[in-house]
Amino acid sequence: MSTTGTARAGTLADVVATLAGRRLAVLTGAGVSTDSGIPDYRGPDSPPRTPMTFQQFVGDEAFRRHYWARNHVGWRHVHRTQPNGGHRALAALEERGVVLGVITQNVDLLHEAAGSRNVIDLHGRYDRVICLRCGRVVPRAALAERLEALNPGFAERVGVVGDVEIAPDADAVVEQTADFRVQACWQPDPDGGPGECGGVLKPEIVYFGENVPPERVARAFALVDAADALLVAGSSLTVLSGRRFVKHAADAGRPVVVVNRGETRGDRYADVVLHAGTTETLQALAATL
Ligand SMILES: [Zn+2]
Repeated sequence: MSTTGTARAGTLADVVATLAGRRLAVLTGAGVSTDSGIPDYRGPDSPPRTPMTFQQFVGDEAFRRHYWARNHVGWRHVHRTQPNGGHRALAALEERGVVLGVITQNVDLLHEAAGSRNVIDLHGRYDRVICLRCGRVVPRAALAERLEALNPGFAERVGVVGDVEIAPDADAVVEQTADFRVQACWQPDPDGGPGECGGVLKPEIVYFGENVPPERVARAFALVDAADALLVAGSSLTVLSGRRFVKHAADAGRPVVVVNRGETRGDRYADVVLHAGTTETLQALAATL
């Protein structure tokens, strides 16, 4: 089944004409963060990459060790990343009441860093970790201290950030992970026993094979319903968790605009598809709308 392409490729003027005078819900993906130095692993120029599944993470201790070793390095990179002009443009549009809110598939928190206030982090956030046994959430920074203590010098040994490949979910490809020591949940035992919980810790990020929490999905639908139009920026709409909002807006008769460098799986729902970078396009919209 073909899922791409009946919408015409438009111009910036078409985008402006479609969105002018309307209050917008915005759905963003990895493309808005590439200019902040976080590669889009689904972008047209990216090497193929097999995403981790929730089942792999839960079911395979060696896989988890490898995952946390890579995350221990990659997390620092995301932690130091700064928002770009596209993030700031959306924050400015929200400040002026043009943008009602942002639904983002990114876990990098760069919309919040740029000043956006109504942000729905659809796929979670990189700066928190959840225990799969007791359900408690702890800051990623607290885990970082413990991982550093368990694995002194590991990040430095595998190479300084910049030499490693960084993926959007804070993975960095690192080979030497066999001796990495993983931290279990150090909260009190939820059953009241002595000692620590010991449960498996997982980034508070929605992985393939996991569902977005229903309450979060409901908030995102409500945002789309409250707006007059939907603007998609920097997402190939490959996964249903984001694409459903595009279909929902189109089914409700609301204008849909897609700004992305390559084709997307939501193009057929769009009134206008603009093949362009998001930073310059969002900055142009902030200057116009
Ligand atoms: Zn726990």
